[in-house]
Amino acid sequence: MSRPYNFSAGPAMLPEPVLARARDELLNWHDSGMCVAEMSHRGAEFMRIATQAEADLRSLLAIPDQYKVLFLQGGASSQFAMVPMNLLRDHDSADYIQTGSWSKKAVAEARRFCSVNVAMNTEDTRFNRAPRQQELNLSADAAYVHYTPNETIEGVEFPYIPDTGDIPLVADMSSTLLSRPLDVSRFGLIYAGAQKNIGPAGLTLVIVREDLIGKTIAATPTMFDYQIHVKNESMYNTPPTYAWYLAGLVFEWLRDLGGLEAMADINQRKAAKLYAAIDGSAFYANPVEPQSRSWMNVPFTLANPELDSQFLSEAKHAGLLTLKGHRSVGGMRASIYNAMPEAGVDALIQFMAEFERTRG
Ligand SMILES: *Cc1c(COP(=O)(O)O)cnc(C)c1O
Repeated sequence: MSRPYNFSAGPAMLPEPVLARARDELLNWHDSGMCVAEMSHRGAEFMRIATQAEADLRSLLAIPDQYKVLFLQGGASSQFAMVPMNLLRDHDSADYIQTGSWSKKAVAEARRFCSVNVAMNTEDTRFNRAPRQQELNLSADAAYVHYTPNETIEGVEFPYIPDTGDIPLVADMSSTLLSRPLDVSRFGLIYAGAQKNIGPAGLTLVIVREDLIGKTIAATPTMFDYQIHVKNESMYNTPPTYAWYLAGLVFEWLRDLGGLEAMADINQRKAAKLYAAIDGSAFYANPVEPQSRSWMNVPFTLANPELDSQFLSEAKHAGLLTLKGHRSVGGMRASIYNAMPEAGVDALIQFMAEFERTRG
């Protein structure tokens, strides 16, 4: 059976070899006689899975020792609250860079806890670019600076890591973590919902510099305290065991493929050819300025929006799924995360050219 190419923004495609391995291990993991989903999270078998997954993630991203890795639940959306609750540390304010729908939500949630200085907001140009470093109006007394390196809905990606001096940098990397190598030491905290580029929904990764935790604001719920999760190795309560296991298989898949350098080459190639196809056509358009274009989420519009539904139904017929753009933006969006094979992007480009030739 050949599987269709699914361009969903999340939950998104998983690598086929990962799914095949999970299938092979589904009823009986490594002669344990159990499915991973049936195992005690404190048993020897699951501990092995959990420890290996963390070790593989640390090795892929070369995470320095002073960073803790947490396997949590609640999605990136819970991190919008957890970050201020844990990182304000007696400060009254935090800086936020607002470059799209997700960072806007992060700002709104942070306002429940502190005064937010929006260091830059690109909404007046419909979130079509990442600001330059010199445009950032950073404050000297901010507890941290929060930004969204890849805006999943608008398809805007920072081509650089903002310099915030001694102020901890916090990044919502839900739709870009593991797409390329990363200098983790530039960050105070990184978080990501897994369902885009890491694994299935239900798992949230947090990578946090150890010296930043343990100073939560009063009345922080136990489950929202990073230190509790650090002390309990992400097992204060029952962790999302099966999602953790699947993420571990994804980390192994990345390692076997040559790690994040190799993944970055593939991702860059995939994105470059799709943007080239869009830019080379008078029928398709992408609104994002070229140097801020995402490698992972590629929104595009048709010259005639009345053809949108026809485009989508013919694409589906051709085995190209979930290309509809986010309801707030319209048009199309192709999410081409790590798990999207280059052949899937080629198939999309070919379909787009054919659609333009016959219907455009
Ligand atoms: C998907 C997404 C979120 C929301 O993630 P949930 O896990 O659904 O809470 C937040 N930020 C970014 C950048 C995303 O892509």
